[in-house]
Amino acid sequence: MLTIKNLKASVEGKQILNGLNLEIKPGEIHAIMGPNGAGKSTLGNVLTGREGYEITEGEVSFMGQDLLDMAPEDRARMGLFLSFQYPVEIPGVPMVNFLKASVNEHRKFKGQEPLTAGEFLKLMREKKEMLHLDSQLTNRSVNEGFSGGEKKKNEIFQMAMLEPKLAILDETDSGLDIDALRVVAEGVNALKSPERSAIVITHYQRLLDYIVPDFVHVLYNGKIVMSAGKELALELEEKGYDWIKKEFA
Ligand code: ADP
Ligand code: MG
Ligand code: MG
Repeated sequence: MLTIKNLKASVEGKQILNGLNLEIKPGEIHAIMGPNGAGKSTLGNVLTGREGYEITEGEVSFMGQDLLDMAPEDRARMGLFLSFQYPVEIPGVPMVNFLKASVNEHRKFKGQEPLTAGEFLKLMREKKEMLHLDSQLTNRSVNEGFSGGEKKKNEIFQMAMLEPKLAILDETDSGLDIDALRVVAEGVNALKSPERSAIVITHYQRLLDYIVPDFVHVLYNGKIVMSAGKELALELEEKGYDWIKKEFA
């Protein structure tokens, strides 16, 4: 699904990713934890092709293709999805129009006909029910005036509509109450299949009670310094990151 080899990237001349390696197979869920400023969001941004990041070394292959060579929109069409740590508001663009355009763009890429209005509404209704979402949000402009929790739930709704091959969730659980946390977990768990994978970036082991990862990695100083099973999340919650910082300073 995804192979990252010795990835180095910088922002405004400052090197943030320092030789990062990561391998994700289809069907796997990987959690990435790590102290603030370690480079977790940078990794998500670099993978999805956000501008402003300079790749100085390394390779990334996504479903057999050279990811770094592809335009951001092609990465998305191939099934890469990033749920933003800070979702942006798009005033004047109703959610329903935004989603319909996205879904049909993905279908076009796969050689499928666009959904009719009726089919699209049916799909939206199914996904809303699955996630127990308030139906009013989709009539409003994308994220405009949404609460923090509503924005995060809306990211998960978009993910559910697009059914990505590889979903990256960047601290989608931060600041959420327990009900919203369940929406996030249900969204990820509903997508679980032998052909799909997810990277869950989180500070809290709490989310991992609901989304059980196959691997937990610690990202520190721009690289993965430790990888283990789900028990590592509990250990980090208990011990914090000081011991990691000492060992890998
Ligand atoms: P994390 O998500 O692990 O908390 P980030 O990837 O957001 O960390 O940031 C890693 C480092 O890169 C931080 O020191 C941050 O200040 C810096 N950084 C990230 N984006 C930018 C940017 N656009 N301009 C300058 N510095 C940045
Ligand atoms: Mg952070
Ligand atoms: Mg971050």
